[in-house]
Amino acid sequence: MQGSFFLQARDVIPVAHPAIQGGIVEIHGNRITAVHPPAQKKNLPQDRFFDLGDSIIIPGLVNAHCHLDYTSMVGVIPPPSSFTTWIHSIQGLKREWTLDDFKASWLEGARMLVHSGVTTVCDIESIWDLVPDISRLTPLRVISCLELIALSNSGDPTPMLDKLTQFKKLEILHKWRVGLSPHAPYSTTPLLLNLLATALQSTNTIVTMHIGESAEEWEMFKLRRGPLYEWLAPQRSMKICDGKSPIQIVKDCGILSPSFLGVHMNYMDTSDAAMFAETGASMVHCPRSHSYFNHSEFPLAVAKKNKIPICLGTDSLATVRVSKSTVTKLCLFAEMREFMRKYPDIAPREVLEMTTTTPAQALGLQGLAGTLSKGAFADLVVIRAKDPASDPYTTVVLNEDPHRAVMIDGAWVVTPPHLQS
Ligand SMILES: [Zn+2]
Repeated sequence: MQGSFFLQARDVIPVAHPAIQGGIVEIHGNRITAVHPPAQKKNLPQDRFFDLGDSIIIPGLVNAHCHLDYTSMVGVIPPPSSFTTWIHSIQGLKREWTLDDFKASWLEGARMLVHSGVTTVCDIESIWDLVPDISRLTPLRVISCLELIALSNSGDPTPMLDKLTQFKKLEILHKWRVGLSPHAPYSTTPLLLNLLATALQSTNTIVTMHIGESAEEWEMFKLRRGPLYEWLAPQRSMKICDGKSPIQIVKDCGILSPSFLGVHMNYMDTSDAAMFAETGASMVHCPRSHSYFNHSEFPLAVAKKNKIPICLGTDSLATVRVSKSTVTKLCLFAEMREFMRKYPDIAPREVLEMTTTTPAQALGLQGLAGTLSKGAFADLVVIRAKDPASDPYTTVVLNEDPHRAVMIDGAWVVTPPHLQS
């Protein structure tokens, strides 16, 4: 659409600014150019004006952690009694899959995200060969974090860093960026993390890592025992299992920074949160994955007390309990509902920040994604409003309705019903 156009709804929630009843979002090209109060309507060109009625406009959601290539594993691995058993199961499944299986799975996951209001995703790429071409096949903004698993110090990071340099040159690709994901402290080595930290210093490269996810990881590092320890002992040096917590180990490698996203962090030492907070890194909680594994309670209170930025992510559909009554999909609204079920005292506004402004900042997209503000990408979601007396933030975080519309980069990717031709 040439020139500016205007979208009005019963409520507009910019997130970075207070909600506006009857607000009007002005869009030009792929950017938001203003958010107007309703009184401005009379001054705006009526032929460029679209009233979305009993709706709420929110920023496109930012999914801080996903494995799109595991989408088709939904329901295949039942919730396990042991985290180590689960790793064996997914490794077995991955060995059976072809490149085409992973590709189809990735694309199905991307489709689910778009249709559930996600417009930016930080995705862990286990299959580097799909990157970056696959990102051209989705309207999503994708930050592809190349996954690295290396159990020995002979795991030279040079090929990975070469690949990163090569991919960085492709970042001119619209809506696509590259990052790194050394998998976890138990599946990499301190030397490798240290070399990566040195190579990436001051580059603002997004690095994300699973840390302190399971009780078995905790047992391995702190107590030198348990199923994960027993399984890995013949495969790697266990010298690092000397009583330090997983977070302390990662911190000591020098890789924590404001561009780092620690995923899960369910198991922490008392001093871990303050130490992690000091680095400026963010953490990612995946509510449905947490429930699937039946982990110990997520340390929300200590994270909040230490002012660690908290983002929500979907993780993969391989770690979501399937429902008999509905189709199980990747959906950040489902993650927000699960979070609200567990933490009903947290303000809905704060929960919405965990899927918009906070992950946008963690991913280096502050002011560009996760907000309806001047200069931001025109990424937005339109959902059905409830009765006028209800709080719009509550309506959003508990939303179960299909979305009326989704816009990415100034173009409708799910078109509002009354604008469909
Ligand atoms: Zn994950």
